[in-house]
Amino acid sequence: MTEGRCACGAVTVRATGISRQMSACWCQPCRRFQGLVGMGLDTPADQCTITGPVRVWRSSDFAERGFCGTCGSSIWFRDIAGDIIELCPGLFHNAAGATLHHENFVERRPDAIRFDPQPQQISGAAYAAGALVIEGSAPPRDRMAGGCACGAVRFRLVGAPGACGMCHCDTCRRWTGGVNCYTGARLEDLTIEGEPELIRWASSPGARRVSCANCGGKLWYEVVTGDETGGTAGDVEIALGTLDDMGGRPLLSESYVDQRPAGYAFAGDHRRRTRAEVLAESATGGQP
Ligand SMILES: [Zn+2]
Ligand SMILES: [Zn+2]
Ligand SMILES: [Zn+2]
Repeated sequence: MTEGRCACGAVTVRATGISRQMSACWCQPCRRFQGLVGMGLDTPADQCTITGPVRVWRSSDFAERGFCGTCGSSIWFRDIAGDIIELCPGLFHNAAGATLHHENFVERRPDAIRFDPQPQQISGAAYAAGALVIEGSAPPRDRMAGGCACGAVRFRLVGAPGACGMCHCDTCRRWTGGVNCYTGARLEDLTIEGEPELIRWASSPGARRVSCANCGGKLWYEVVTGDETGGTAGDVEIALGTLDDMGGRPLLSESYVDQRPAGYAFAGDHRRRTRAEVLAESATGGQP
């Protein structure tokens, strides 16, 4: 029996028979739902007990996704007719001991984000050939516009595309269900279209995480008064996977690398810092 939970703790998961092989998918619904890339662990649905305020988004004719209605954390993806549920690895300590095995829709992966070692590569065409049905049309190409998976939330950013960073802290992993990768902005540079219903979860005393209340799509982290890594009021970190075009943003850093599950890692010569290093630098006024 393996036990897991969402970031706020309201949703708990108990399961047996969780696959040791983790999957990653770059299709539109997956990456907008989880904030960078959809990650899953196949689990027999009848060996899985989920309790708490789960909301379900019917993402297509044949599939649905579950998320926590309190904090927005990604919980699962499933084919409605199937007997397998794909649990998000971020629910569990160390991704329940699983190792990344394959990567779907690799042609939609942004150049800056590469798993190391590289898992088995499956193109969208190859994936489609082996599947009865697939989700997700080709994404629009705009680096300064974005939205959630269901389309209820749409936003624009001003300025030029900046770099991105990654965080593997416990809260980021549980909230996204996998990897949190973001690009920094200011609240005043962010324009939300209309008045969509949002989940605004206070993830720490001075900051909150925002997701779509309808689909659970991860949107951004927002500093309200301040945070432990030196963020100031009005700083936002936009989830990379929510942007229409994820390209053109080099990966500059990975934070909390000591909390990253052993089953995946990322290539590149960017900065890597442990939790202790991040906190020590922010205490002395260094780069958050
Ligand atoms: Zn929750
Ligand atoms: Zn949505
Ligand atoms: Zn984090």
